[in-house]
Amino acid sequence: MNGDEACSLLGYSEQELLVMNVDELVPAKYRFGHENKRQKYIKSPSNRNMLSSPRSVFAEHKDGSQIPVEIRLNTIKTRYGDRILVSLRDFTEHNELVKTLEFALEKNKSLNQEVSIDPLTELKNRRFFEEAAIREFAQSKRHNLELSIAMIDIDYFKKVNDSFGHAVGDYALKLVSSELKKYIRAGDTLARIGGEEFAILLPSTSLPAAEILLERIRVSINELQFTNNTPETITISIGLTNLYKSDDNYQELLKRADEALYKAKDEGRNKVITRFNNESDK
Ligand code: GH3
Ligand code: MG
Ligand code: MG
Repeated sequence: MNGDEACSLLGYSEQELLVMNVDELVPAKYRFGHENKRQKYIKSPSNRNMLSSPRSVFAEHKDGSQIPVEIRLNTIKTRYGDRILVSLRDFTEHNELVKTLEFALEKNKSLNQEVSIDPLTELKNRRFFEEAAIREFAQSKRHNLELSIAMIDIDYFKKVNDSFGHAVGDYALKLVSSELKKYIRAGDTLARIGGEEFAILLPSTSLPAAEILLERIRVSINELQFTNNTPETITISIGLTNLYKSDDNYQELLKRADEALYKAKDEGRNKVITRFNNESDK
């Protein structure tokens, strides 16, 4: 920073700055004790950059206002002996940029939440699920990894609404969702992909392992109680498949899982039907 810049940043004339003590540029609340620190530093100087947290370092303008600054302390050798060079850089613009960026990132985060979360159950929605499926399908193909997928549909859910009302139906959906969540590990994707339909994407999971998991889920949903006094239960039907070498896109997997789900409905509901690689149903 040259003399003119220092004058406009700090509000003093060059004559004033030349005769001022540097402590006077430290904000009033930190000024007391600054001289001590300065004397200590002079005794054992080292190069320092006071930028650990850019918004917390300030200089005081002549009018008393605080200016965010970056301060660098450098020891230099001159013809007149060792000196300390203090460089000040106005951080106002930098901080404004950081604030704008943080605001934009925060907004983006909440927009992303809005477009990927189902508000009733707080599970991921269909859109998020499809994006995850595209990603995981590509990864699993590229690295020759297992990928299992399950489609879940609540049985006779219309009856729940008809018998107990829509609010109880909503409550039952939330209850099922939080039960499903308990079985999900990091890396899996659980989503509500329709009214009373859910899907689970299980990367690096073999079909037999997925079958054991889904069977556990089926049993635990059947044990839920969604009304206080009546022994009403909910059951789910599940269609399960895994990635075949011949699959060209994730929709082929979804279609197979969906077909298996319909078979589960056909065969009486409250079942897991697995679609194996030899194209025959279990
Ligand atoms: P199936 O065993 O064949 O799946 O029978 P079902 O009654 O579950 O199937 P159907 O598709 O006929 O009905 C689904 C019902 O789910 C109808 C719809 O009113 C209800 N539903 C969908 N979304 C919501 C929701 O957000 N809240 C409530 N309370 N009900 C919902
Ligand atoms: Mg349905
Ligand atoms: Mg249903």
